[in-house]
Amino acid sequence: MTASVVIVAAGAGIRAGGEVPKQYRLLAGKPVLRHTIEAFLSHPGIASIQVVIGEGHEALYEAAVEGLKLPPPVTGGATRQASVRRGLEALEQAPPRLVLIHDAARPFVAPETISHVLAYLDRHQAVIPALPVSDTLKKATANIVEGTAERAGLWAAQTPQGFHFTTIVEAHRLAGDAAGVDFTDDASIAEWAGLEVAIVPGTVRNRKLTTADDLKEAENRMAMERAFALNDVRVGHGFDVHAFGDGDHITLCGVKIPHDHGLSGHSDADVALHALTDAILGTLGEGDIGVHFPPSDPQWKGADSAVFVAKAMELLAAREGRLANVDITLVAEAPKIAPHVAAMRARLAEMLKIDPGRIAVKATTNENMGFIGRREGMVAYALATVRLPGSPESGDV
Ligand code: MG
Repeated sequence: MTASVVIVAAGAGIRAGGEVPKQYRLLAGKPVLRHTIEAFLSHPGIASIQVVIGEGHEALYEAAVEGLKLPPPVTGGATRQASVRRGLEALEQAPPRLVLIHDAARPFVAPETISHVLAYLDRHQAVIPALPVSDTLKKATANIVEGTAERAGLWAAQTPQGFHFTTIVEAHRLAGDAAGVDFTDDASIAEWAGLEVAIVPGTVRNRKLTTADDLKEAENRMAMERAFALNDVRVGHGFDVHAFGDGDHITLCGVKIPHDHGLSGHSDADVALHALTDAILGTLGEGDIGVHFPPSDPQWKGADSAVFVAKAMELLAAREGRLANVDITLVAEAPKIAPHVAAMRARLAEMLKIDPGRIAVKATTNENMGFIGRREGMVAYALATVRLPGSPESGDV
């Protein structure tokens, strides 16, 4: 069973404060309205989406829905009721059998709620999600209580509210033409028209974002959910060694450093980036640099080793992971590394797209001992920490 949905986004949204109406305020970097639209776009029961926007909000709307496939929006009227009516009338060119009407400021509508409303429309003319009222309700004037309302049997109505299309269009027209009636939701219009309205369970999350506090709380909750979503924390280790050979510079962490020798190797011999690549691959169990870039392959001759790091980062991105930090230790008697550490961290920050505060580059000598002490070559160690989306196999027991 599929339905069209009318999303009402025509309000001025002034109670939430700020420069733009609340439906265009950002939540986790995305406009509230876009979250709402995406909730319906991803539901298999929704065949089309008609958004109703406020006059003068065209540019805000276009920016908010960039890249989404939607019919042009219609402009709302002076009241919510008038706006919904315009949205419904826009659907009349190709009338659906069922229609859902939803507030743009309820971005957290659950797919189960949409499914419930649709399923109940099989047996009912009108269906709303609602929650039983749990607070005691007071009637007051100027902060002074005049009485207590009977709470039993009271429900707080949410959206999406579902209807048979022709029935609700007709009810809206009658209500719109009747003088002195102004309804704040569509079920009220259905009731006014004598239709039976059924209730399905709503969710606490599906409450309407109205005030600046609501938006802030939603933002905090989403940040927390994102943090929990990346709770599969892993550490990877990498090691590499290259011999010194002929040359007048070496490349470490993508930075060219003048030296009386070069490092020998098939690529640019950036021992630090090779260790780092292995560390990142190590977090993913994706083998090592030689697996992805065989030294026998001539295309990597003289290659900028940033290519190898980019490949490891690509594999991390494919798993929707984030790099938390990297820690690189270079071991050489010469050249002096310290003067180049700032440039190396800056180059790594660029390469890894993380803050330099998450990148450490340290250096030590080998106290003139062994092959490093004899200046035959140098060594790099790297650690990388990544955070991946949690899964039942995340290591919890
Ligand atoms: Mg190497």
